[in-house]
Amino acid sequence: NSNRQDKDKEVNIQVLLRCRPLADDEQRLNVPRVITCNDSKREVTVSQNVASKQVDRVFTFDKVFGPKAQQRSIYDQSISPIVKEVLDGFNCTVFAYGQTGTGKTYTMEGGMRKNKGGELPVDAGIIPRAVRQIFDTLEAQNADYSMKVTFSELYNEEITDLLAPEEQLKSTEENKSKKPISLMEDGKGCVIVRGLEEEAVYSANEIYSLLERGASRRRTADTLLNKRSSRSHSIFTITVHIKEGTIGDDELIKCGKLNLVDLAGSENIYRSGARESRAREAGEINKSLLTLGRVINALVEHSVHVPYRDSKLTRLLRDSLGGKTKTCIIATISPSAHCLDETLSTLDYAHRAK
Ligand code: ADP
Ligand code: MG
Repeated sequence: NSNRQDKDKEVNIQVLLRCRPLADDEQRLNVPRVITCNDSKREVTVSQNVASKQVDRVFTFDKVFGPKAQQRSIYDQSISPIVKEVLDGFNCTVFAYGQTGTGKTYTMEGGMRKNKGGELPVDAGIIPRAVRQIFDTLEAQNADYSMKVTFSELYNEEITDLLAPEEQLKSTEENKSKKPISLMEDGKGCVIVRGLEEEAVYSANEIYSLLERGASRRRTADTLLNKRSSRSHSIFTITVHIKEGTIGDDELIKCGKLNLVDLAGSENIYRSGARESRAREAGEINKSLLTLGRVINALVEHSVHVPYRDSKLTRLLRDSLGGKTKTCIIATISPSAHCLDETLSTLDYAHRAK
């Protein structure tokens, strides 16, 4: 039955496109726009002037979110179904991919402003909304569950813990020796990260202090090393264990994992812009970003060999990419003419993942 085979071969990779609005200063400077989004037709149009003629290129995605799209509608339409899978015991991953300054962190974290009343602020991004959905669902089911989060950063193929306690960081600086973080597999195909602080979370509100703690670590690292955060990936992982019952003396536990990944700026794939072949020869600067693209292409094309082992990021996410897992890539772009080259390479990259 070929229908059945198609279903088995189905790849659960969704590619969304989000275009941010022009910033206030860009509006003041009358920065020209080259992007038009048609959300209902799921189309993005890039208008270029070639030899004083306007040339339009149209790209189609699984979903398109133009500059007016609210955080909430992206979440409700595209992420909420993924969180449901996680609660059913699957591992899933959401990536934000795009040039620095196009809204990856805004989409993933969003406003850090806490709300007194306990509701989410309108600009809350995917992380706080996912945590909220998980708590709300499990509380409504009166489930017996636990939830843990880790927040790490991957820079130069090295993992740093963004939630490590202060004392440990100080001693790290003094000793110049880091607590080693290592990646392993448990033989059943699950990835184990040794040495990362696992924080148990008991309410959705706690997420804001965790996010703030991690984000301020990234800011500190940024001042120490210029633009580090645009060259590093941050990975926020939520693991939920839900007790389903008992068989004799054994507890039946369902476990799901959600990875929310704010990738390094896509301008970092190659040393200086992705378009010049000379720059390309200079070699990639971000092995993980490059390998992720190859892994996703291999999954989409049903290749026999998926090069998970070629980078830290893909090794880290191995049990949450491909197979029965669901993956969502949110490609972010700027509407401005100044970003045209990078926008085109983001659209090409994202389009190839479909
Ligand atoms: P990146 O993480 O890709 O470098 P940021 O998320 O830091 O980009 O976004 C750059 C700036 O644009 C920030 O000031 C952010 O608040 C703003 N921004 C990004 N996307 C949006 C959006 N959809 N609506 C409003 N402001 C946005
Ligand atoms: Mg960012």
